[in-house]
Amino acid sequence: MTIERDYSLAAVNYLRLDVKASFFVVADSIDAIRSALQFAHSRKLPVLLLGDGSNVVFTDDYPGLVLKISTKGIKLMWNESTAIVEAAAGEHWQDLVAYTLENELYGLENLSLIPGSVGAAPVQNIGAYGAELKDVLHDLRVLDRQSLSEKTLTREACGFGYRDSIFKGKDKDRYVVTSIRLKLARQSRLLTGYGAVERELQNMRVTEVTGKAIAEAVTRIRRERLPDPSVEANVGSFFKNPHIPVEQYRLLRLKYPDMPGYKERDKVKLSAAWLIDQCGLKGRNCGDAVISPRHSLVLVNKGSAKPDDFLKLKDIIQSRVHEHYGLDLEVEPYLVN
Ligand SMILES: Cc1cc2nc3c(=O)[nH]c(=O)nc-3n(C[C@H](O)[C@H](O)[C@H](O)COP(=O)(O)OP(=O)(O)OC[C@H]3O[C@@H](n4cnc5c(N)ncnc54)[C@H](O)[C@@H]3O)c2cc1C
Repeated sequence: MTIERDYSLAAVNYLRLDVKASFFVVADSIDAIRSALQFAHSRKLPVLLLGDGSNVVFTDDYPGLVLKISTKGIKLMWNESTAIVEAAAGEHWQDLVAYTLENELYGLENLSLIPGSVGAAPVQNIGAYGAELKDVLHDLRVLDRQSLSEKTLTREACGFGYRDSIFKGKDKDRYVVTSIRLKLARQSRLLTGYGAVERELQNMRVTEVTGKAIAEAVTRIRRERLPDPSVEANVGSFFKNPHIPVEQYRLLRLKYPDMPGYKERDKVKLSAAWLIDQCGLKGRNCGDAVISPRHSLVLVNKGSAKPDDFLKLKDIIQSRVHEHYGLDLEVEPYLVN
């Protein structure tokens, strides 16, 4: 295990913020993860787990150990009508999606092209185009960061919600997710009801809607709508879409008849991008931190933005949306303090 000191994190976070970690380790086995945690315990260092760095915002140098998980391996096991696919935490999510599609297994197609690692996927219960990880997760393995012992958590034990789980909530900083197991169908169970996906399938003149066709439609939509993080440094949606009570939505609609809202169980999901747009903030910047002119939910590093530039821009957006609509936008990525 190589322990780097005063390591620049610019290449391992999607915002390309040039901050430093006091210590940095890449762990490619569970034993290496244990050793790194023991090293941090012995020096009483805080530990930040890192996957691909696509959902973290560093607010300063990190005065501890950044532990990048890079364990690999995907395994396919069959039972009667379903397949169980097990993937190590350090696999790239998109490689897992591609693997399942190659094996004609269904369930991940709507989650195509989401950046990041497999191990981070349960942390915020990744979701897109009507699907969420929790819909297909069977269980997962974790390593307890204190006792260093491993155990299995069922899907129910993970406390999944909208971009939420116990790993962000009550058990934050308790576990390393080391692998996940998905239960996928051999037969397609396709979610095409999401408007944009349906329209794209029509544009593609698809006659037979397969998992691969949906993955292709989702990939096209994402490429069209979202700034490419390899060209414009970003962490995807910077804010969660607010979920508000139906009555509150009804009252807001009386004042703002164009305000879009999507009924989800007993709440209405609003579009955070729409709220930001309506406040006239598209394109607004603080230094090199800019609200993407392509998508108002995405904040981009134009070159040499500092953590403070993003924090200032975040504050401006939150206060303007609050002043206009009385709504509080919650940050989606992990702000590392
Ligand atoms: C262009 C773009 C588009 C995106 N689109 C979507 C989208 O459609 N839907 C969506 O849900 N998300 C989206 N995201 C967010 C991001 O892709 C996901 O949150 C992804 O799961 C993060 O993976 P990561 O490996 O990069 O995590 P990181 O950024 O490295 O870490 C994220 C959090 O997970 C923790 N963590 C990482 N690995 C582990 C582990 N093994 N065990 C425990 N904790 C761990 C970290 O400590 C941190 O708190 C998008 C991001 C970008 C840049």
